Amino acid sequence: MKLTRRTLIGSGLTAAALLAAPSVFGQAKPKIVIIGGGAGGATAARYLAKDGAGALDVTLVEANPVYTTCFFSNLYLGGFREFESLQHGYDKIAAGGVTVINDLATGVDRNARTVTLAGGQTLAYDRLILSPGIDFKDGSVPGWSVEAAEKMPHAYKAGPQTQLLKSMVEAMPAGGVFAMIAPPNPYRCPPGPYERISMIAHLLKQKNPTAKIMVLDPKDKYSKQALFEEGWAKHYDGMIDWIGPDFGGGAVEVRPDSMEIVVDGTVEKIDACNVIPGQIAGKIAQIAAVTDDKGWAPVHPENMKSKMDDNVYVLGDSSAQGDMPKSGFSANSQAKVAAMSIRGELLGSKVFPAKYSNTCWSLIAPDDGVKVGASYQPTPEKIASVESFISQTGEDAALRKATYEESLGWYEGITTDMFG
Ligand SMILES: Cc1cc2nc3c(=O)[nH]c(=O)nc-3n(C[C@H](O)[C@H](O)[C@H](O)COP(=O)(O)OP(=O)(O)OC[C@H]3O[C@@H](n4cnc5c(N)ncnc54)[C@H](O)[C@@H]3O)c2cc1C
Repeated sequence: MKLTRRTLIGSGLTAAALLAAPSVFGQAKPKIVIIGGGAGGATAARYLAKDGAGALDVTLVEANPVYTTCFFSNLYLGGFREFESLQHGYDKIAAGGVTVINDLATGVDRNARTVTLAGGQTLAYDRLILSPGIDFKDGSVPGWSVEAAEKMPHAYKAGPQTQLLKSMVEAMPAGGVFAMIAPPNPYRCPPGPYERISMIAHLLKQKNPTAKIMVLDPKDKYSKQALFEEGWAKHYDGMIDWIGPDFGGGAVEVRPDSMEIVVDGTVEKIDACNVIPGQIAGKIAQIAAVTDDKGWAPVHPENMKSKMDDNVYVLGDSSAQGDMPKSGFSANSQAKVAAMSIRGELLGSKVFPAKYSNTCWSLIAPDDGVKVGASYQPTPEKIASVESFISQTGEDAALRKATYEESLGWYEGITTDMFG
């Protein structure tokens, strides 16, 4: 469809807005390229296509033909979900008017406003959205490298790594030792490692009840700590040892070939190990040079636009935005704000003040769910938390069951919002 006076009027574009949006002249439709079809990118693609009502040319570049959610991947580890239930294709996004390209974006030229793909294609854009998730910081755990993930999986990008981790836990000998090297801040899904420990403990309690779990943590406190500690004492008493930095949790070296870890100079033989290294923004954000010296991409809190480039937006885990945790819920919420901002810039549609929200549920044991959440608003400095809530210790079983059931509804709702 060509952009005509009629389609512009039909989309509510006023004369003043036309002047403010010169990029719509002289081309068929404004082009938006989105790199990354996960929580942030898939949502942005769907909302731009749907609310743009055909006036925007939206292309989604995603390396994998099927997306496997990290959210609820811990429940798969615990035996509460099938792996396939975490997988989502892109057919419905394509049917909604988005051009979906399964390829790896390898270059961004911000001056020419083009993206290059591994397959050789070059895509021009008026606005670029980056939502590539995370990559791992080199050397953050001595002895570990991305290649070593075949022996000591991270399972912090869901897919084969998640299946590998589960098979390793299941293959542990009776009474064996599982170790997790927890990540330093900031990292995706603050309660994720501790929900994972709960789910692995649940699995072991049934199949290998004398097995032990060690968590080596470089942080002296962690998300929902009181709730996890209470739950571990109640359901998995004596099975889990959490070792913080005071006792060597922050000074760990791993030896993937011999299945050993070295804690504060002492060599420990283990049977399975989950290394969750330090994290930085997805590599393409680094390539696009929209990241800072800490490895994350600073954005304007009111719309998720990069502070380095007015034509680029960064969503989700890669962004440095303020108080929001790196979660799928956050990425989905940010994507809607960015989509509204882009429609405002390119089509002149009304832009409402940004509001963001997040809730992170964690399952500790069957029907024992807890949550933490907040609503957020932009301030001049950052996206700031304005109102928050958290489950309480000592809650009754009915409330915990209701919290878990709420999380099931959330998963169905949010994945439909992202993938159709
Ligand atoms: C164990 C675990 C449990 C979690 N549980 C929850 C939860 O319960 N609730 C919650 O809200 N969040 C949860 N999260 C966090 C959530 O998964 C992330 O915060 C969310 O996925 C971030 O969205 P994103 O769009 O930034 O990145 P992602 O969802 O990771 O999407 C990035 C996409 O970009 C693609 N990509 C990257 N680079 C390129 C490139 N160069 N070219 C093409 N494609 C590219 C990737 O293939 C990927 O599909 C959990 C995470 C983990 C690890």
